[in-house]
Amino acid sequence: MQKLNQIAEQAVLSAEQAVSLQQLDEVRIHYLGKKGQVTEFLKSLANISPEERPLIGQSVNQAKETIQEAIQKRLEELKSAELAKRLAGETIDVTLPGRGHAEGHLHPITRTIMRIEDYFTQLGFDITGGQEIENEYYNFDALNIPAHHPARAMHDTFYFENGLLLRTHTSPGQIRYLEKKQPPVRMIALGRVFRCESDVTHTPMFHQLEGLCLDKNICFSDLKGILKDFLQFFFEDELAMRFRPSYFPFTEPSAEVDMQCVMCKGKGCRICKNTGWLEILGCGMVHPSVLAPLGVDTDTINGFAFGVGIDRLAMLRYQINDLRLLFENDIRFLQQF
Ligand SMILES: [Zn+2]
Repeated sequence: MQKLNQIAEQAVLSAEQAVSLQQLDEVRIHYLGKKGQVTEFLKSLANISPEERPLIGQSVNQAKETIQEAIQKRLEELKSAELAKRLAGETIDVTLPGRGHAEGHLHPITRTIMRIEDYFTQLGFDITGGQEIENEYYNFDALNIPAHHPARAMHDTFYFENGLLLRTHTSPGQIRYLEKKQPPVRMIALGRVFRCESDVTHTPMFHQLEGLCLDKNICFSDLKGILKDFLQFFFEDELAMRFRPSYFPFTEPSAEVDMQCVMCKGKGCRICKNTGWLEILGCGMVHPSVLAPLGVDTDTINGFAFGVGIDRLAMLRYQINDLRLLFENDIRFLQQF
């Protein structure tokens, strides 16, 4: 009995001192396992008298129970200690400042396009995009630029092997629009156009805005009025304009429009090459040779068209001095807008 008590005491002590679940399991095996101390103790009593057996059996069971209770108690302690440790490791300090989100920015070209669309939709213009891959008919022939025409060579066109091409201007959008809708018509077409040229002021891909207005009794002063109002809206400034006679195959008469320099207000600076003026767009009254093949009655219907470089508008409005910055997509540049 004394030996049994000793074993039980040692077992309880070992259990209490176990510092890990593994160590505790070793204690259990050492005392209660098949070859454990308690089992060994039972074996050593093989020759015990039958009268004493119940008493000894009861004591052994009691000792086992005591040991099991001690192990169970320690097991719970170790488990809750481990949980506490894990929770401490996963603690979130809610008072720390957040990591924040990197905010996206609209590209200056996108902002410019949205601004243009904003203005023209208020005047009841439809917005179309046209298509970037065109054929010679829509890009040239239908716009009064036949095959032998010198303007065709000036366009530095990207051709595909099958005769299709990347549109060199947004004007084909006018033709496609007029095929679906007869006058009165007010529309703008904007998007990417492509020319085979690349230097400081030219990129092979750039953006154009095309405007078309057809109705009865449209005259040149309507064109002038809308352009002046648009530029004032776009630049939020009262800027002088001047029209210079020019030539485009698809308009007659044609004009190029200069705007008072937005940087120096006409005094002369590097941007306007000290002239005080900026070339900003081309325009004119739509040539009857463009309209007649589309079924428009050119005796009663006429109108104007204009084309503006969107990239140039963006550069002037956001004071960007290099066209290429718009297409490099350097995040440090874009984040400024
Ligand atoms: Zn200037």
